[in-house]
Amino acid sequence: MVDLFEKIPFLKKIVKLRAFQFAVIFPNFFLFYLFLIAALVGTPVGNRNIMIVFVWIFWWVMLIAFMVPFASRIWCTVCPLPIIGEWLQRRTLVKVREGSTIPGFKQEFFGLNKQWPKRWRNIWLQNIGFLLLACFSAHLVTRPIFSVFVLGGMIVLSTILALIYRFRAFCMYICPVSGFLGLYAMTSKLALRRKDKAVCDVHKGRECFLGSERSYPCSWFQNICTMDRNNYCGLCMECVKSCPDNNVGLFWRPFCSDVDIKGIDEAWKSFIMLCLAFVYSVNLLGPWGVLKDWANFTETGQWPGFILLALGIILLCMVIFPATYYLFIKWSKALSRSKNVTTKDLFIKYSYAFVPLGLLVWIAFSVPLIMINGSYIIAVISDPLGWGWNIFGTTHFPWKPLLPEWVPYIQIPLLLMGLFYSIKSLYKIGMKIFSEKEATVRSLIPMAILLSLITIVFLRLYVG
Ligand code: SF4
Ligand code: SF4
Repeated sequence: MVDLFEKIPFLKKIVKLRAFQFAVIFPNFFLFYLFLIAALVGTPVGNRNIMIVFVWIFWWVMLIAFMVPFASRIWCTVCPLPIIGEWLQRRTLVKVREGSTIPGFKQEFFGLNKQWPKRWRNIWLQNIGFLLLACFSAHLVTRPIFSVFVLGGMIVLSTILALIYRFRAFCMYICPVSGFLGLYAMTSKLALRRKDKAVCDVHKGRECFLGSERSYPCSWFQNICTMDRNNYCGLCMECVKSCPDNNVGLFWRPFCSDVDIKGIDEAWKSFIMLCLAFVYSVNLLGPWGVLKDWANFTETGQWPGFILLALGIILLCMVIFPATYYLFIKWSKALSRSKNVTTKDLFIKYSYAFVPLGLLVWIAFSVPLIMINGSYIIAVISDPLGWGWNIFGTTHFPWKPLLPEWVPYIQIPLLLMGLFYSIKSLYKIGMKIFSEKEATVRSLIPMAILLSLITIVFLRLYVG
C-alpha cells in the first residue's frame, strides 16, 4: 500500500486547508442547482434536458465506473445534497465555531443535536429507499420533473434531519445512494486509514473523532483509529486536519482489500444491487416490451402491470434471491464440514461474493449507456434547457453511438473480472473463517457455481 499523502505532500496540504471542503463542494452545489432549475423550467424531453443527460448518464457512469472503484466515496466529499443542512448545523461555511453544545465535543452546533435512534443505526432504510426508487426508475431517468422531486426531496429531508439529529444522520442512515456507495467502496483502490496503531493507542485526545479547535468531529460517526473499512467514511478529510500526530494516511491499495460484510443489512444491500442490475438489464435489453410498458405506467396507463412489476422486483431482491443464496450457503457449510462458523455467519460473510461481481455488472451495464447515448452530452452542453440555444455550437451534434460493435467486447472481460475478484475474495474470507485450505476450497464450490451461473445470465443478457 502506498500512502498518497507521503508521495504527494501537496495533496495533504490541500486537504488540510480549512476551506478544502467548501472549495470542492461549492462549484458542485452551484452546478447542481442550475440543473434543478433546468429540470424545472427546461424541456420535459429527457434526452434534451441537462438534468437527465448529465445526472443519469454522465454522473452515473463517472460514479460507478471511476469514482467508486478508484476513489472510494469521493463523491460524498463533493456531494451538494446534504450541505445546506451541514452549513445550518454549523452556521458557518468554513471556520470552526468553538463551543460545547454536545457534551464531549469542542464545537458549537445549532439545531436539536439529537442522537439517531438506535434501532435504525443500520442501512435498512437505505435499502428500502433505494428499492422503492428503483421501482420508479423509468420515470426518474427520463422525466426531469421526477428528478427534481427525488433530488429536491433529498435536499429538503437532509436539511430537516440535520436540524434534528446530530451530524450527517441523513448520509449515514437514509441516503439511498449512500448504501451502494458504501458497499462498493469496499472494493476501491483508495482508502483513508490511520497509519500506525501504536500512535493511536498512546494518544488519548481522540481529536479525529471529537474534532478540535481547527476541525469538526467526524460527521459520519467514524473513528479513524479503529476504522478498517471504507463503507462509512465520507472522505470529508476532517480527521486529517484534526490528528495532531499526522497519523492519517490516504492509501492506494489492491482492489477488493476490504472484505468484511458486518451485518445482515449489508448482505441484503449486496443482493438488492445485483438483482436490480438484472432487472434494469432485462428491462433495457430484453425483448419484453410489455415490461417497459408496465414500468412507464403513467404514459401507458398500465397500473396493474406496474404494481405486478414492482412486487416482482421487491420479491426478487428481498426473498427469491436471498433464499436461493441461503440454499447454496447451506450446501457450502455442509461441504466445509466445519463447526467453526454458523450458517448465519457464513451467509453474512460470503455475501461479499456479490460485491465485486455486482460492481462489475453495473459497470458493464453502464458501458452502452455512455457509448450509445454519450453524444447527448455534447448536444446538451450547448442547449441545457432544450430551448434551442447554441452556446458552444454543438446543439445539433447528432445522436451518434460510439463504436457500438465494441460494447460486448468490453462487457465480457468486465463480467469475467467481476467473477474472478469475487471468487478470489471469497477464498480470502474462507481462509479467515476456516483457517484451513481444504475446508475453504470445499466451501467455495457451491459459491463458485452460483457466481458462474449469475455471470452466465449476465453474459447472455449483454452478449446474446
Ligand atoms: S451519503 Fe448521499 S447525500 Fe451524503 S454525501 Fe454521500 S451521496 Fe451525498
Ligand atoms: S473518517 Fe475522517 S475522512 Fe472519513 S468521514 Fe470521518 S472525519 Fe471524514
